[in-house]
Amino acid sequence: MPLITAIKAREILDSRGYPTIEATVYTKNGKGVASVPAGASTGKYEALELRDGGKQYSGKGVQKAVHTITHIIAPALVGKDCRRQREIDSLMLQLDGTETKRKLGANAILAVSIACTRAAAKAQQRCLFDYLQILTGRKCTIPRPYVNIINGGRHADTYLDIQEYMVVPRLKTFRNNIRAASEIYHTLQQQLQKKYGKGATTVGDEGGFAPLAVTKTTQALDMITTAIARSGYTGKVDLALDCAASEFFRKGKYHLDGKAMTAGQLQKYYRALITKYKIISIEDPFEQNDFASFARLRQESGIQIVGDDITVTNPKRIAMAVRHGSCNCLLLKVNQIGTVTEALDAVRLAFKNNWKVMVSHRSGETEDTFIADLAVALGCGQIKAGAPCRGERIVKYNRLLKIEQELQDGSWKK
Ligand code: PEP
Ligand code: MG
Repeated sequence: MPLITAIKAREILDSRGYPTIEATVYTKNGKGVASVPAGASTGKYEALELRDGGKQYSGKGVQKAVHTITHIIAPALVGKDCRRQREIDSLMLQLDGTETKRKLGANAILAVSIACTRAAAKAQQRCLFDYLQILTGRKCTIPRPYVNIINGGRHADTYLDIQEYMVVPRLKTFRNNIRAASEIYHTLQQQLQKKYGKGATTVGDEGGFAPLAVTKTTQALDMITTAIARSGYTGKVDLALDCAASEFFRKGKYHLDGKAMTAGQLQKYYRALITKYKIISIEDPFEQNDFASFARLRQESGIQIVGDDITVTNPKRIAMAVRHGSCNCLLLKVNQIGTVTEALDAVRLAFKNNWKVMVSHRSGETEDTFIADLAVALGCGQIKAGAPCRGERIVKYNRLLKIEQELQDGSWKK
């Protein structure tokens, strides 16, 4: 039996250079390591991270969370079978005892939760996606990537209000989809250089370009559409947006592209964008409590409406969105809820209500590739992991390239 013999934790840095947690769960049959990401445009209803406060690291240190793992979580979990994911996660929830995980910290809990999953996979001598399949009960497939090539909102210091402009290639293999995204990305880079000169190709938190000279949504979409055409992919690549609208919602109005709009006006604006561009998916088109506007856009547009800040991977919020008919896709961010078990419960609820699921990274990432295996094991068909740029994004895509090959030639079984 792979019983937990020890758990260690440490403070490491995420892709923004802020501290985050890495945990290692040890068993006699192998160990599992996991590190957790952090958002910038975080939803109001997400589980809470434990941060140190004070002067060091601008208050973002995680020494308290390390302490929590070492002195509270580890003593309770040592001796437990790491394959009993639900039991382990429930135990941590009991130790925390709060609705928001504010006592132990969702960052501390999640690092241990994922490290347990990895240790269990190792103990069973199964690769992670294969082991995760037991927990998800679904059939493995390689997801289609949603590749964020222009960054705005909270992810870049520019004038673009919409946070993510994604290309979504529709070729037969993941390898070809990544190639298309990379080629489009580099064509866009050349266009930006040529049109705006120096400084136009700096990148944002998720590796997408953050050009100061591109100030309007349509300007960004036009440039991407041209890049798709010049790369030879017209008709083979769709577009998607993450508006992260809570970030530009102030005093009852949406402040977008230099205008202050009501929800009704914003809906009209989206209608025009969907008509003009090949947009197949919009995430968080309205602020996180406007369930009704989400529902109206979903009904009217017929496209995929993804819930992120509105649903926060939390079954209670998902149930509210289901009641209102607000979304038809769940953005799955494991750290929004804080345990593997609860994240999978959120997925089950989404699928039960005929929603799609898109697995997601965070804007502050690490080199952990858990989400790649998770997307495969869920067979959900969609993942967003940023641009084809910056190591913490690339590792997820590279892991998927490897899994695709292993699934094709059967080498994952060896
Ligand atoms: C998002 O909003 O979907 C996102 C990935 O950003 P963040 O991690 O900053 O919430
Ligand atoms: Mg989002």
